[in-house]
Amino acid sequence: MDLWTRLGEERESKEAPLAARLRPRTLGEFVGQEHLVGPGRVFRHALEGDHLPSFILWGPPGSGKTTLAQMVAGLTSSHFSPVSAVSAGVADLRRIIAEAQERRGHTGQRTILFIDEIHRFNKSQQDTVLPFVERGTIIMIGATTENPSFEVIAPLLSRCRVFTLNPLGEAEIQTIVSRALSDPERGLGQLQVELEPPAREFLVAQARGDARVVLNALELATLATPPDAQGRRRVGLGAIEEALQHRALLYDKAGDQHYDIISALHKSLRGSDPDAGLYWLARMLEAGEDPLYIVRRLVRFASEDVGMADPQALVVAMAAQQAAHFIGMPEADLALAQAVVYLATAPKSNSLYRAYGQAKEEVRQSGPLPVPLHIRNPVTPLMKGLGYGQGYQYPHDHPGHLVQQDYLPPNLQGRRFYQPTEQGLEREIQKRLERWGRALSQAEAAPPEEES
Ligand code: ADP
Repeated sequence: MDLWTRLGEERESKEAPLAARLRPRTLGEFVGQEHLVGPGRVFRHALEGDHLPSFILWGPPGSGKTTLAQMVAGLTSSHFSPVSAVSAGVADLRRIIAEAQERRGHTGQRTILFIDEIHRFNKSQQDTVLPFVERGTIIMIGATTENPSFEVIAPLLSRCRVFTLNPLGEAEIQTIVSRALSDPERGLGQLQVELEPPAREFLVAQARGDARVVLNALELATLATPPDAQGRRRVGLGAIEEALQHRALLYDKAGDQHYDIISALHKSLRGSDPDAGLYWLARMLEAGEDPLYIVRRLVRFASEDVGMADPQALVVAMAAQQAAHFIGMPEADLALAQAVVYLATAPKSNSLYRAYGQAKEEVRQSGPLPVPLHIRNPVTPLMKGLGYGQGYQYPHDHPGHLVQQDYLPPNLQGRRFYQPTEQGLEREIQKRLERWGRALSQAEAAPPEEES
């Protein structure tokens, strides 16, 4: 079942969650976001005039992105094809595009492709859509919680308008709560709910502008509160607190807080705090996050923030990856916990990260400099004739397996990218490099009698 059919069926069904039942069906029911849907605003104008450009709705979860897209679907004369970037792939996009081309050819009808969570599409998936947006074969509507300038490829972004949704304000959330409590058909009206003032205050404050969180928590708390003798349900603070807590974990699993929490884990490890590391790890694992997603970040961390201060970090992180892959959850939780504690308590260095960053920048600036002849490989006689490999000195033939020789292109001579710190093993590496430097300059000052 596609995304739209599911949303449509949910809305119609009495069994559907409260948030789905209360999803606004007209602009009149839509609360807030006046800068988009207020009279005379560009978005409203385009919507009512049915001449939509491709656009991206950027806003926090539960602010009305899907709802607006669904209204577009209801109002437009174009065909509406929705996909979710979480589950759709290039094959789905190609199929929708082929159908759009055929439709346009036969009936002249245009197609709107709605991509929910467009930030989850990688570059090549976005590339698939680009030429058809350019040519106008499809009108694309994307919805995203992430900044489109980072998550949407530039050529696609330049062909879309970006409409920003704000987190709903307290007064707007209050309106939605009141409607939910009073509406007898789509809301909780028939259940005679009395939401106690402290519970209501807490619910609105905790929602942080997310209408879905509010409605889900309200519904859960109501169902958990038995009616009294008169059939009234008095929903108190405790029930709301519990409902929000339960909700918070499910919420993470849906991926909404995914990026914030993985960032908190990374920063806790960088800050050498094993307790915070374990806490954020548990927040993700217990909410059902994919352990391989977490471990990919641990592997990256091992090189970026520990690096040569403890090269074993990369080994431990990869072992956790193997364990997660091999035994899966829930058994893999301890392998991940072990990697987290190892990384948090390992000595830290970002010198590898900086070194590679500088090398990369050098390559970008100086371009493809030629490889010095003496370190080229003379594979054919012609190459030998051209001087390939000439004058190359084999370090093992020299005292300490070291010889003064240039390996960088001539105009980068002496350039240093890797500067070890005093942390962990890097102290040893630093001493070794210094020792070698001294040995080489002594050898240069007093060259041995014979070199071959
Ligand atoms: P998202 O921005 O995550 O796509 P949705 O549009 O799916 O959010 O909203 C989730 C639910 O929250 C809707 O089903 C609806 O009940 C409620 N909601 C969200 N925004 C609004 C709004 N602006 N006005 C009224 N209800 C809203």
